[in-house]
Amino acid sequence: MNETTLDQAVAKRRTFAIISHPDAGKTTITEQLLLFGGVVREAGTVKARKSGNYAKSDWMEIEKKRGISVTSSVMQFDYQGKRINILDTPGHEDFSEDTYRTLMAVDSAVMVIDSAKGIEPQTKKLFQICKMRGIPIFTFMNKLDRDGREPLDLVNELEEVLGIDAYPMNWPIGMGKGLQGLYDRYNQRVVLYHKDAQGNQYLPLEEDGTLASDHPLTEDSAYQDAYADMELLSEAGNQFDKEKIASGELTPVFFGSALANFGVKTFLDTYLQYAPAPAVHVDQAGEEIAPDDAEFSGFIFKIQANMNPNHRDRIAFVRICSGEFDRGMDVTLNRTGKVIRLSNSTQFMADARHTVEKAVAGDIVGLYDTGNFQIGDTIYAGKQAIQFEKLPQFTPELFVHVRAKNVMKQKSFHKGIQQLVQEGAVQLYTNYNTGDYILGAVGQLQFEVFQFRMLNEYHSEVVMEPIGKKIARWIDPEQLDERMSSSRNLLVKDRAGQPLFLFENEFAERWFKGKYPDIELTAKL
Ligand code: GDP
Repeated sequence: MNETTLDQAVAKRRTFAIISHPDAGKTTITEQLLLFGGVVREAGTVKARKSGNYAKSDWMEIEKKRGISVTSSVMQFDYQGKRINILDTPGHEDFSEDTYRTLMAVDSAVMVIDSAKGIEPQTKKLFQICKMRGIPIFTFMNKLDRDGREPLDLVNELEEVLGIDAYPMNWPIGMGKGLQGLYDRYNQRVVLYHKDAQGNQYLPLEEDGTLASDHPLTEDSAYQDAYADMELLSEAGNQFDKEKIASGELTPVFFGSALANFGVKTFLDTYLQYAPAPAVHVDQAGEEIAPDDAEFSGFIFKIQANMNPNHRDRIAFVRICSGEFDRGMDVTLNRTGKVIRLSNSTQFMADARHTVEKAVAGDIVGLYDTGNFQIGDTIYAGKQAIQFEKLPQFTPELFVHVRAKNVMKQKSFHKGIQQLVQEGAVQLYTNYNTGDYILGAVGQLQFEVFQFRMLNEYHSEVVMEPIGKKIARWIDPEQLDERMSSSRNLLVKDRAGQPLFLFENEFAERWFKGKYPDIELTAKL
């Protein structure tokens, strides 16, 4: 890519994450996108990582796999004059707060939905973070080669469950074995699943939006149904609105099959027309930091610990917000005021044969870190101090009691916990009455990493016991009466000393609300 100036380089960046529930097809679509990018990869690299056929307890083995995972955390490639960064959002057993935090580092998101299943829980959670950020969200309804739910039904569910307006860019003509193609409303054409007798894949639409009447497809009831649905949506559905797409109020919806590579290219091409380039970031002082500002700045959104005890280093992932990154440059870490030389860094390219010439705003770099960085840290190169907004805290859904196995080793236990919590590995709560430690996480992996690192970095063997609570709700300290605590909930304090209740399930929460109707309980994100 011939990049001459910083603003040209920045304008080419498209940085996004693919969000989905496990098995919706994120891995399959990612591999298709890499193929379009002409990225030669070892076949199935992304899949190999996902299949994760390693023993969960064997962290060394995981770290070997993490060699892949680190590089596939960010996949960068060039396509149609754009430089694309796809950030991985791990699901399954790798789901953690890092998955959420990754969404703080992207400029848009692609939501992949299994068209037989519709909106599933993990999609909903990840979507809410994108919505909170007001970033554009593009929807891909996948697995059209299988029988799925009615398209109108899917679009309705999307709007109702997620509370976002939808604009179908294309519409299935049949599905499963009866899949004929897509009525491509946006590009005014029909895309055939199998080429027709004349060898056409694309059939242009007439002025009125219908196919030329002599084409045999016009006789097909699947086509007629699709056309009727499109007419209905044109009259009663949402209008296409660029501004609403940009602000995340309207999601363009594409149908297709990642596995059959059908509709994926149409999706990518259209997506790139509307996906935003890196935007202005506003720092805590209200200062606007433009991506093409000459001075480098960025924030750390994820830290990946090395599981190998012989290599204590970690990788801190930095989203560049402005300027250009150069290996060996000096930056100031705003939290401490310390100047750090970034000599040991790695950049990400899906095709390892190419070296990245430079990284600019929108790109992600991985810094080898020996303990300088924390999640949410801002680094900058200019004279003017910059501190980007704090990353939000996410409400954990898993809680365990934690204690040191060896009571004689309290000191290393406390030190380890304090440091790992500060780093953002897990969240810490204390029992309101006893002061016992309780850890919270959004994914089981966080506990496993915690346990491993406590042992290897702090020589502290920890015992963790699930406490059977899933829902965290904060309460205004003014309203708190300790008698509200009962066998159905657990009263704890967060790190800031704020009180909250941990409930076993929704019934327990509802029971509480029924008993104390005037008490306001709040969830964080
Ligand atoms: P992920 O968990 O979201 O990354 O999902 P994967 O990409 O691994 O897909 C889960 C399963 O669905 C795999 O067996 C895929 O082969 C399959 N799959 C993905 N996309 C499609 C599709 O378009 N059609 C069909 N029939 N299967 C698909």
